[in-house]
Amino acid sequence: MLDFVGLEEGLSSEERMVMETAREFVEKEVKPDIGTHYIEGTFPTELIEQLGELGFFAPNLDGYGLPGINETAYGLLMQELEAGDSGLRSMASVQGALVMYPIHAYGSEEQKEKWLPDMGRGEAIGCFGLTEPNHGSNPTAMETYAEKDGDEYILNGAKTWITNSPIADVAIVWARDRSDPEKPVRGFLVETDRDGVTTNKIDEKLSLRASITGEIGLSDVRIPEDNVLPGVRGMKGPLSCLTQARYGIAWGAIGAARDCFETARQYALDRDQFGGPIARFQLQQQKLAEMATQITTAQLLAFRLAELKECGDMRPQHVSMAKRNNVRMARDQSRIAREMLGGNGITADYSPMRHMANMETVYTYEGTHDIHTLILGHDLTGIPAYE
Ligand code: FAD
Repeated sequence: MLDFVGLEEGLSSEERMVMETAREFVEKEVKPDIGTHYIEGTFPTELIEQLGELGFFAPNLDGYGLPGINETAYGLLMQELEAGDSGLRSMASVQGALVMYPIHAYGSEEQKEKWLPDMGRGEAIGCFGLTEPNHGSNPTAMETYAEKDGDEYILNGAKTWITNSPIADVAIVWARDRSDPEKPVRGFLVETDRDGVTTNKIDEKLSLRASITGEIGLSDVRIPEDNVLPGVRGMKGPLSCLTQARYGIAWGAIGAARDCFETARQYALDRDQFGGPIARFQLQQQKLAEMATQITTAQLLAFRLAELKECGDMRPQHVSMAKRNNVRMARDQSRIAREMLGGNGITADYSPMRHMANMETVYTYEGTHDIHTLILGHDLTGIPAYE
């Protein structure tokens, strides 16, 4: 596997073990069938419990049966999962960084005890409802709201593009609390079997096909007051979750790009044209050289990001730069790899076109490329340019 500047040589035994376990799992359990799942538009749900058994859901958190691995090991895990498919990494990111993280960071003791052990084992599935039909890049304008009624809240609104909502047991719904004079955004734990909840599946996606995506409809849904995350008010709640998930994406995109690179390199060595392997042509070598260089620079950024996160110095803007750069890199390089495979490159027998299509989603969700550009522009000039 591409590790041109020997970054893996410096891994601790724990980091190496996590990486190798995930790599082997993806090779054996994911790669053989993922092309079929992609074509059929299904997620390999039979792998969810295995992911749980291997400790792949929120392993960087402590307590409640979670192993508390360091941020480099967590990043490497995301990289290996996305080398399989972005749908697989999305499953782990949503469950771990977008659902378990806020329960862990902002939940009551009862909420933590109720959800974290089961979610860690993959026995309960969560989803994260922030995006709405009319509010994607600007979730602050959300319309979904909650109103207090005795010791209950009543929720109304609609969320869309929600990874895993059709198979989730619980959704973290971000909504404005209209009973509070400041109308803050709060996080509400909404069990999906409550009256008034619908979770329709979104079909016919042309990207991230091996992932289940849906809506969340909320029509006079009553939940007990105890289901509100007590530890956070305002947009800090959802945004802090996004920082965690974007960190995993910055790593994951490298895995997808690396899988494209390895596939293209092998193909170039195996495929003969004009009397020998296409890898002997300078045009093909230039593509491999560029791919390897771009992947390596993305790896360096990810490893540094892990150091910053580990010592508590990582800022959301650091994550924006890494997500923005590494996903664009994977998007560009997967396309080059696809090209190197000629006609075979447009089939699901090889991974590059699947990764390439997936990258359109990864480029768009968790803050579009444009939005991360604006976040960086704001940070670099002090002038916000969002509106
Ligand atoms: P818009 O915000 O309408 O943007 C459209 C275009 O305008 C984009 O190119 C954008 O960059 C550009 N744009 C917007 N504002 C500006 C600006 N100020 N300056 C310049 N350009 C701008 N959401 C969840 O809450 N939970 C999930 O689990 C989840 N999973 C997803 C899974 C998939 C497969 C997909 C596709 C999306 C998912 N999302 C999820 C939603 C995702 O986060 C949003 O699609 C994303 O935030 C963009 O919002 P939008 O689609 O409404 O696009």
